[in-house]
Amino acid sequence: MQQYALIGRKLGHSFSAKFFNEKFEKLHIDAHYSLVELPDFSGFDKWLEARSDIVGFNVTIPYKEEMTRRCDCLTMEAREIGAVNAVCVRRGEDGTISLTGTNTDAPGFMLAVEDELTQIRRETQPGERPGALVLGTGGASKAVCFALKMAGFDITLVSRTPGHSSSAHNTTAGPASVRKTAQRITYADLTSEIMEANRMIVNATPLGMWPDTDVCPDIPYDCLDDRYFCFDCIYNPEQTLFMKKSAAKGATVSNGLKMLENQAILAWQFWQNGKNG
Ligand code: NAP
Repeated sequence: MQQYALIGRKLGHSFSAKFFNEKFEKLHIDAHYSLVELPDFSGFDKWLEARSDIVGFNVTIPYKEEMTRRCDCLTMEAREIGAVNAVCVRRGEDGTISLTGTNTDAPGFMLAVEDELTQIRRETQPGERPGALVLGTGGASKAVCFALKMAGFDITLVSRTPGHSSSAHNTTAGPASVRKTAQRITYADLTSEIMEANRMIVNATPLGMWPDTDVCPDIPYDCLDDRYFCFDCIYNPEQTLFMKKSAAKGATVSNGLKMLENQAILAWQFWQNGKNG
């Protein structure tokens, strides 16, 4: 039986085991997906050596960045974002193990929002570039920024602290037309002009996530109307306060469930390609 896994520090909240084990059962695939809690990344190699049946695994908080250094090979997405969330394991006949890492959060996000991005692009004045506000500067933000840059959006990062955007947010990946550094501002800098220039708003902070569902990012919701698309990376609860307040102003809203499902499906395809390649 093929074995897959999710490694992370605390996995009580994981969606992946249910998602993959239901898929295996439904499609009669002889495989199993388990949760592996590693209190420390130093335990990773010991775990991998002991599990000669592991053919692929996901990576979550807080090991996505450390895994980029542990992999033998990275896809362009993983290298540019600086985080790995899916790894394909290859074993040589001599027992050597080779790890290839990718990032499926970015394309997972892209697939979840492509209709809305197309709509925003259509409504952007000729000669101008569409703009997006990305709230938060952590791992989800880096994946979202990478995807939005590849889609030709100008990005403004909104953080609690002023400062320079990190290297992943400054990525120069992609064709010359998408090479632009994300600018970084604080919540206090969000004027009506900035809101007007950015019709897409992504909550990439944990604010509003269960069980703390009565909080939301501090943005001027009064500036929103039906031209805006507000995407929350959070998928639990289904309707966050950020989504409720945005929808009340007429904005189109979406939670992160589709992104989550897409990243899992893309990880599965990555493992299958690696196995057959
Ligand atoms: P993270 O690294 O813990 O935090 C992201 C950023 O949010 C931080 O860097 C910080 O940016 C900001 N932030 C943190 N606490 C805050 C607070 N109390 N108030 C305001 N801002 C705060 O989390 P992450 O891994 O990027 O994930 C963010 C969210 O996306 C989580 O809810 C996660 O579950 C979700 N997510 C969903 C998917 C999906 O597939 N749908 C994938 C990945 C993550 P500043 O310090 O710059 O303000």
